[in-house]
Amino acid sequence: MSNKIRVVVWNEFRHEKTKAHVKAIYPDGLHATIKSFLDKNDDMEVTLAALDDPDQGLPDELLENTDVLIWWGHAAHGEVKDELVAKIQDRVYLGKMGLIALHSAHMSKPFRNIVGTNGFLSWGRNQKEVVWNLLPQHPICAGLPDHFVLETEELYSEPFYVPQPDALIFGSWFEDGYIFRSGLCYLRGAGKVFYFQPGHEECPSYYNEYVQKIITNGVRWAAPANIGFEIVCCPQLKTKATEE
Ligand code: ZN
Repeated sequence: MSNKIRVVVWNEFRHEKTKAHVKAIYPDGLHATIKSFLDKNDDMEVTLAALDDPDQGLPDELLENTDVLIWWGHAAHGEVKDELVAKIQDRVYLGKMGLIALHSAHMSKPFRNIVGTNGFLSWGRNQKEVVWNLLPQHPICAGLPDHFVLETEELYSEPFYVPQPDALIFGSWFEDGYIFRSGLCYLRGAGKVFYFQPGHEECPSYYNEYVQKIITNGVRWAAPANIGFEIVCCPQLKTKATEE
């Protein structure tokens, strides 16, 4: 068995097909851009998935062989089948897979169900964002400066209706004066969840070297620690994992 981290980048992949200005930034979809920088890492094996693919991009065989699921959705959250969301939730809770929710995935069913929130926030015009590194010792912050600037990103503002995170690692300032908790880590069940705010479809943030570093570090952080090993449950106890 390969010890590589098996990453699936799931994208709603609609805006890039219907809006010329989005397609101009991400011609093959923003998930392809994310894959292209993750592919530079020898310890990762990256697969693309999209909402309009068969089985909404995540047939059982692929999901059961995913260590980290990266999720980008926006206008079609409601189309994602509850049955699929339940499978994703189970896999994260059992510690078999980590979830990275990007940008508008704050309203996605997987993020809201797993973290336990309505995910509401306020938003506004695209503008300059300064992302501050609040926890330099966190593994996701490795190799980052104390802050970096995104010349244009969609304003997201507090209050962000999420549970208090286990670690708050990025905080952002926006040109109009608003602030937002832009990098949040959660432990849920035996699994890990990372929410990261940059990545509006009209903005080229996934080409930014620091955003790329954060998502790359996020994959390594969210990946189960036991890749390559079977999860062994105590045979005397009945658990969800042993019943399956
Ligand atoms: Zn957006």
